[in-house]
Amino acid sequence: MASETRPSSNGDPFDVSRIRADFPILHTRSHGKHLVYLDNGATTQKPRAVIERLIRYYETENANIHRGVYELSQRATDVYEEARRIVARFINAAEDKEVIFTRGTTEAINLVAASFGRKFIREGDEIIVSALEHHSDIVPWQMVAEACGARVRVIPMNDAGELQLDEYAKLLNSRTRLVAVNHVSNALGTINDVRRITELAHAAGAKVLVDGAQWVAHRPTDVQALGCDFYCFSGHKLYGPTGIGVLWGRRELLEKMPPYQGGGDMIESVSFDKTVYAGLPNKFEAGTPDISGAAGLGAAIEYVESIGLSNIAPHEDALLKHATEKLGEVPGLRIIGTAAHKAGVVSFVIKDPPMASLDIGTRLDAEGIAVRTGHHCCQPIMDRLGISSTTRASFAMYNTVEEINTLANALRRIVADEAARRKQSAPAGASAHAPAAEILYAPAAASSPQAAADELADDFDLFEDRESKSEYVIDLGNKLPHTFDMLKAITTRVPGCMSEVYIVTRRAHGTSDRIEFVADANADIVRGLIAILQRIYSGQRVEEVLAFDIEGFFRRIGLDQFITNQRRTGLAGMIERIRHGAAALAGQPAATA
Ligand code: PLP
Repeated sequence: MASETRPSSNGDPFDVSRIRADFPILHTRSHGKHLVYLDNGATTQKPRAVIERLIRYYETENANIHRGVYELSQRATDVYEEARRIVARFINAAEDKEVIFTRGTTEAINLVAASFGRKFIREGDEIIVSALEHHSDIVPWQMVAEACGARVRVIPMNDAGELQLDEYAKLLNSRTRLVAVNHVSNALGTINDVRRITELAHAAGAKVLVDGAQWVAHRPTDVQALGCDFYCFSGHKLYGPTGIGVLWGRRELLEKMPPYQGGGDMIESVSFDKTVYAGLPNKFEAGTPDISGAAGLGAAIEYVESIGLSNIAPHEDALLKHATEKLGEVPGLRIIGTAAHKAGVVSFVIKDPPMASLDIGTRLDAEGIAVRTGHHCCQPIMDRLGISSTTRASFAMYNTVEEINTLANALRRIVADEAARRKQSAPAGASAHAPAAEILYAPAAASSPQAAADELADDFDLFEDRESKSEYVIDLGNKLPHTFDMLKAITTRVPGCMSEVYIVTRRAHGTSDRIEFVADANADIVRGLIAILQRIYSGQRVEEVLAFDIEGFFRRIGLDQFITNQRRTGLAGMIERIRHGAAALAGQPAATA
């Protein structure tokens, strides 16, 4: 593969400031601050070369491919097939035909699961996945297993986030048809020994799929040297556009597998009696593909090659080392995922004072720092480690030591502020260890939900921008009694929320037709939303609760300006729980209390 290096003005083979100059978005601002983009595991930013390639495609090359006799269609076809050649060279595929374009890693895995599964997996067979997999490399296998009567088995990991290959060896047997494992874990950064995993699988007669989503942008890929049977990745994590990805497979295997989807472009001939499928790669590319995306992916790969993965890897390793040291020094912070071999990912939790990753992410966002929070589509990892989420910083070639220092300093401030805040609020109100819920059910804040909403809307009117509105919400949450541990012990989590939320509703004491509730969450912004819901709903008549237009109220206060869509889903889950409680009460006879 090409690994030409980009010479810098000062002779250093890797000049990060020159690379940054190629990425327009890195020079924008977020909340008025310099953007510090550390969410590269989710998607990378795009260099100008890729952006301009897309423009050139649409300005001068756009037509549908493979079918037109006219010149423009031929040009578009050449663009698309040239991209396939670039990908084949980049991963050292034996032939271009082994490269199938997909929408991304997820679709590539689903393609193999559906097609290989249909052909080769039978009742009683086994599929092995690892404990480190992304949901994209778990769920498709569960679906195949369910359809075929096969069983999914799991390679366990240790506390550091390393796969236990001795246990893996014990799982392999003559029923194992396929092993699916990632090259690098997106949640923890662990680099897996996929060559060894493949050798062991092949010795047992099983095929191997490697999910390379988190690898290809960081280290050279040689599918032939790895020895695996399938390899897949997403263009958007490799500085390319969204909507394009790659499945590489061994030709002899792909030839035996049935098409994944039917439609145009994947056939040789169609009649109502018999359809003959096209050969590789078209057999697996039904319908008009993402032609511009392929062109953009080709440009992204050429861009990466112009810098050289042999230069990118040591730079990112240095960032990882620096981040591990710097974040490790932040009081109360614990790094999750301490494998001996790691790529540029640092996942962490803050234990002292305990902080929800949602709150950490929100506070970092206010400082212009973009990180990811949550389970990272790896719930089984979180369950294995006994946590519900982490905050994750993930690096790319354009990140700098200064950005990591900015993150570490921001985290220090956040931890110190939180500790101070807790100290201040500790003696007031109900404690986290409140012995009984009784005093914590909120009484009616106004004569009706509408009256409470009007008062709240007046308060919100006092704040003009999204920052002050969201600070006000957090302030409301700070006044909410801490009942989290108590509620967690007695009720189930509200589904749909990124953070943990617990709500208990009941008929308001001494009334026949009013609802009251107590609720808590492990994220400050969500506690603020709970406080708003309590003001509106708690202590009110169930009919009025059910009739009240809460969506209208949220529109009125401009909630969507400062609450993300994901959080709105969580909010909808909370409202649903409360309304459900109210509906249940409405159907019950009057209370005797
Ligand atoms: N596999 C891994 C390891 C990932 O990190 C991701 C995305 O984060 C995926 C699969 C899914 O990639 P996509 O959403 O691009 O299909």
